[in-house]
Amino acid sequence: MGLQTSILTEGRKRDKLRMIFGIIQSMKNRVILAIGAHPDDTDFGASGTIAKWVEEGATAYYLICTDGSRGSKDPKMTHQKLALIRRKEQEEAAEVLGIKKVFFLDHADTQLVVDNVLKEQIVRIIRKVRPNTVITMDPTFYYSQKFGFINHTDHRAAGLATLDACFPLSRDRLTFPQHEKEGLKPHKVEELLLVNLEKADFLVDITTTIDKKIKALACHKSQFDDFKKIEKMIRTRSKMQGKKVGYKFAESFLRLNLP
Ligand SMILES: [Zn+2]
Repeated sequence: MGLQTSILTEGRKRDKLRMIFGIIQSMKNRVILAIGAHPDDTDFGASGTIAKWVEEGATAYYLICTDGSRGSKDPKMTHQKLALIRRKEQEEAAEVLGIKKVFFLDHADTQLVVDNVLKEQIVRIIRKVRPNTVITMDPTFYYSQKFGFINHTDHRAAGLATLDACFPLSRDRLTFPQHEKEGLKPHKVEELLLVNLEKADFLVDITTTIDKKIKALACHKSQFDDFKKIEKMIRTRSKMQGKKVGYKFAESFLRLNLP
């Protein structure tokens, strides 16, 4: 059995265990923090999974690193106007999914830099909400020949800063010691799920929440000329992922267990 298969099986085993011990109980007290570069990133990559885990009792938070203020073709649109629209759209989507709170860092769209400023901001939120699982974008995913695109620079920056924030920065009390003075204790993240469209070893069955995912994505009205096309793409892609393990629809991740 190859590594890929064994980890996929691990994912199914976990689903079975959750069924045995009762779905609500197993996700109760679990905290999920999803970190994206732009409003809509996490909704595209992981909102079916997050909605499912929230329904099962988990508490979920979003952290959005940039203001998303460049993503418009409208000649009359301004950065300021778009940033406000996108924040509102993300908050509406979060409400659909049952997200407890969305944190916005408001860095300029397309200019996200992996530096200590960004890392400190992410560590602060990690220490504040104390997640068991962090979901972010895989910083090693540079481009896709298969789907024909370059992965956005902000996606890679958000992912890399998050990796550093999870380990070792959140864990060590002497890193960003000002947090301790504010009452924020060090924190160890147990599990990291990375969104990478081409590689995956952990699939989550989102058959019961794909409609919620689509409803959440539809909130990002400023981003779509033809949402029907997006819906079709999401259903097709989720079906393709699901096929690998016998789910109708799935979201896929690379999973890092951090014992
Ligand atoms: Zn994005």
